[in-house]
Amino acid sequence: MDKFDCIVIGAGPAGLSAALTLGRARRNIAIFDNGTNRNRVTQASHGFLTRDGIKPQEFKDIAMKELQSYPSISIFHETVIEVDKDNQTDLFFVKTSNNASYMAEKILLATGIQEEFPLSQVKQYYGKSLFNCPYCDGWELRDQPLAVIAENSEHAIHLTKLLMNWSKDLIVFTNGHELSDQVRNVFESKKIKVYTSIIKNLLGDHGKLERIELESGETISRSGGFVVPRFYRPNQFAEQFNCQVDENGIIITDGNGRTTVPGVYIAGETEKAGPSSLMIAAADGFKAATSVNMDLTLERF
Ligand SMILES: Cc1cc2nc3c(=O)[nH]c(=O)nc-3n(C[C@H](O)[C@H](O)[C@H](O)COP(=O)(O)OP(=O)(O)OC[C@H]3O[C@@H](n4cnc5c(N)ncnc54)[C@H](O)[C@@H]3O)c2cc1C
Repeated sequence: MDKFDCIVIGAGPAGLSAALTLGRARRNIAIFDNGTNRNRVTQASHGFLTRDGIKPQEFKDIAMKELQSYPSISIFHETVIEVDKDNQTDLFFVKTSNNASYMAEKILLATGIQEEFPLSQVKQYYGKSLFNCPYCDGWELRDQPLAVIAENSEHAIHLTKLLMNWSKDLIVFTNGHELSDQVRNVFESKKIKVYTSIIKNLLGDHGKLERIELESGETISRSGGFVVPRFYRPNQFAEQFNCQVDENGIIITDGNGRTTVPGVYIAGETEKAGPSSLMIAAADGFKAATSVNMDLTLERF
C-alpha cells in the first residue's frame, strides 16, 4: 500500500486549498471527495474575491484543474467510509466505499457540514429562493417580500435584525413555536408580522417560492426568504480519532488546524459544525496545510 504524507478528506474550499498548499510544498498527498458539498444546490456563489457569482461546480472544477499541475497530488472521487489510526506506527488508514484502503502519516478532515431543515419542503427551494446566509445571497433578494423561518426567539430576532438592511418587507414564521414576550414586543414595536402557526406547505414553481400555507388556514405571499437549519457533521471521523470536542460540539484545535490528536488536522466548517463561507473555509485549509507541512518538516529534519 502506498504511504501518503497526508490524506485530505473533502474537496470543498477547505480541502482544496489545503491540497494546493501541500502540493506546492512538494508533499505526496491524496484528496478524497464524494460530491456532497452542501452548496451544490445553489446556482451561484458570492463574495469570494475574483469569483463573485461563480457556480459551485465551476469553482470546484477550476480548483481541481489547478491541483492537477502538481504531480504529488492524487485525486480520488470516492467516499471515505472508515478512518483509523495505528497507535504502534502512528500511521492513519482510510477505507473507501470501493473497498480500497490508503495509508498516510497525517490526516486532514475537511468534510464540511450538512443541514437539517425545520420542514422537509425547504429542500425544494433551498439555494434557489430560500437561503441561510444573508451575506451570501441577501443581495439577490434585496427589497423583496421575504420570509424569515426561525423556530426560536434568538434565531428569529438575530436573522430579522440582520436582514433589515437587505429588505424591509419581512415576515417571521416560527412553524408552531412561541416566541418570548420580549422578542414578540420588539417585533410589534417594529411592525414586523409574526406567524406562529405550523407551516403546512411551501408553494411555488421550480424552486421559486411564491406562498406559505399555514395550518391556521392563512396563505401568505413571499418571493423568497431565509431559514435557520440545524447544522451537523456528516460523519464521526473526529470522534473516532478521539479528538477533543468542547461543550458546544466544536473540535478543539490550536487555532491552526491541529486537533488534540497528533497527526489529525481539521479545516473548514466541519471544525465548528457551523456555517462560514468559501473564503473562510479556504483560509482554514491553507492554515491547516501549513501546520501539516511544518510538523512533517520538523519530524523529518
Ligand atoms: C445554498 C448555499 C449557498 C451558499 N452560498 C455561499 C456564497 O454565496 N458564498 C460563500 O462564501 N459561501 C456560501 N455558502 C457556504 C459555503 O458553501 C461553505 O461555507 C463552504 O462550502 C464550506 O467549505 P468546506 O470546505 O468546509 O465544506 P464543503 O464545501 O461542504 O466541502 C466538504 C466536502 O467534503 C466532501 N465529503 C464529505 N464527506 C465525505 C466523505 N466521507 N468522503 C469523501 N468526501 C466527503 C464533500 O463531498 C464536500 O465536497 C453557501 C452554502 C449553501 C448551502
